[in-house]
Amino acid sequence: KKTRRGDMKIELPPLPYGDSDLAPHISANTLSFHYAKHHKTYDDKATDMVKGTEFADAELEDIVKATHGKADQKALFNNAAQAWNHDFYWQSLSPTGGGEPPEALARRISADFGSVGAFRKQWADAATNHFGSGWAWLVLDGGKLKIVTTKNAENPLTQGQQPLLTIDLWEHAYYLDYQYRRADYVDAVLDERINWAFAARNLGQPDS
Ligand code: MN
Repeated sequence: KKTRRGDMKIELPPLPYGDSDLAPHISANTLSFHYAKHHKTYDDKATDMVKGTEFADAELEDIVKATHGKADQKALFNNAAQAWNHDFYWQSLSPTGGGEPPEALARRISADFGSVGAFRKQWADAATNHFGSGWAWLVLDGGKLKIVTTKNAENPLTQGQQPLLTIDLWEHAYYLDYQYRRADYVDAVLDERINWAFAARNLGQPDS
């Protein structure tokens, strides 16, 4: 399943689960189009754009950081960042996700947001109310956990923030399953599919 193109650094990572493993909250129909069409297209375009350039052998994350905010690199930034964001999104979901965060992560969340419930509400509200396409992230910023949203392909890495989890807010992420009801998609992700263990690993917390 893994797609490699010679020794290029950009590659389409395999999905960490099967197309139907996030159903019924994210259907196989949504997942297969989202991964094999949307994500793959961003990845293919970024791969084509770096051929023969200074970025030919660069890591995807370095391309995202180096091209951000540069008018003549906008198309490469958009495609490279979307490739990075989607890889991170697949890892932010799990067939066994949702429920309560593991204890060490829950303590950290409560310290920075007041309670897990307040944190969940802040994330759901930010994701639901974000205008247009983008992403809703849990990040580490200056040692504190924060919820941030970004527009289009924008990525917190370019703001010096470390992404811990993300939710895709583009309509292609939910429209086949939820139509205009983004709030229902966000609730389903947070309650049933968000991969707390991935966030804990990104924070360097031991498996619990
Ligand atoms: Mn997407």
